[in-house]
Amino acid sequence: MTTASPHPDPETTGTSEVPEAPATIEMPRESLLPSILDVNEDDLNFVVLQLGQPPFRARQLWRSLYHDGARSFDEMTTLAKPFRAALEERYRVSPITPEIELRSADGSTDKVLFKLQDGELIETVLMRYGLDGHRRARRTVCISTQAGCALGCKFCATGQQGFRRQLSPGEIVAQVLHMRGVIRGENAALVASGEAKKDEVTEITNVVFMGMGEPLANYNNTMQSIAVMNHGQGMNIGARHLTVSTVGLVPEIRKLAREPYQLNLAVSLHAPDDESRSRTMPVNKRYPIARLMHACRDYVETTNRRIFFEYVLLDRENDTPEHAKKLTVLLKGLMCHVNLIPVNPTENGPYARPNDKRSALFREILTKAGIPNTVRQEKGIDINAGCGQLRARALDDAVEPAE
Ligand code: SAH
Ligand code: SF4
Repeated sequence: MTTASPHPDPETTGTSEVPEAPATIEMPRESLLPSILDVNEDDLNFVVLQLGQPPFRARQLWRSLYHDGARSFDEMTTLAKPFRAALEERYRVSPITPEIELRSADGSTDKVLFKLQDGELIETVLMRYGLDGHRRARRTVCISTQAGCALGCKFCATGQQGFRRQLSPGEIVAQVLHMRGVIRGENAALVASGEAKKDEVTEITNVVFMGMGEPLANYNNTMQSIAVMNHGQGMNIGARHLTVSTVGLVPEIRKLAREPYQLNLAVSLHAPDDESRSRTMPVNKRYPIARLMHACRDYVETTNRRIFFEYVLLDRENDTPEHAKKLTVLLKGLMCHVNLIPVNPTENGPYARPNDKRSALFREILTKAGIPNTVRQEKGIDINAGCGQLRARALDDAVEPAE
């Protein structure tokens, strides 16, 4: 496409003929606009006033975005048409676009690879849990906070791909909004077919910050996204249903302890001593176990909330009875829960899952020492639902397309 300047300079053209401007690449205009999901609550009030609207329109706009989940300004029928048109001129709604959407064979897990406005790729996972003994049905979204990750854990597909960039608050929240849209669609179909009543269906119940990236290395944007998810007039997800997972950034764990939200904190421990932890997690050189555990103990004391420790079981690397015993000593007397996760082997990673006998023995040692624990079976193995694995595959396919 070629474009001509609407204001040709008569000094240089000399005639009324319009010179041809250099060829430009055609880009959909909408993709260049900033996302309204990146405008925080205060700024949204300001934008609304600037567009000549009364203040209560900001609340309506907020509700349309976060409560109703409008995907375009057109859908926001509570707002007057000229106001919607003015917004549409200046903003787009979501900053992320689904590229690949997969569902596991058992239908429990969806994984979406999203493209960001600058072409970066991130992953989001949706997990559906049925009624499980005393636990109610859940719909959990696992979200990314960075494109890539700088921390280089050896067993992690994201870590193997390096750091690309921070995600904005809107890019973080948009992942939950997308998955909530999927669930709402399913629920509406169940109600329409008479399979469930309106009050029997489950919306998104939990959000875990366990996708690509290190949330505490993107601290402010992560906290801003939490404020939006937790907002009573919008997504209204209780802080107790939000879990932030960290590789163990000590200063940020201390900062998090002073935040007003009753969040859950998960700490990726993965080894009970510096020697084995440093082998798989380079961050351990910066924040060794003693410093990390000191911060964890302070966190529990300040917040009076337990910490979840993630422990990826790597066959013959960190899963011996000696490792288990050391772990019991490390966690003694601390209000915590250990999630044991048999590793989801990555393409180029050297680690395998331990067999059931080894995992069971590890578990038994923790249980005997009175440390609450569960073995978490990863969902969606068949769709590469592990952290960073779908992006890795998509990039592989881009280089070497699948047959
Ligand atoms: N950066 C944060 C959150 C994202 S990773 C963190 O490290 O905690 C979320 C969880 O997935 C972490 O506990 C991480 O160690 C774990 N994980 C990474 N790669 C994995 C793999 N291949 N198999 C199983 N769990 C993995
Ligand atoms: Fe980053 Fe977490 Fe993966 Fe480590 S496990 S490389 S911190 S995303």
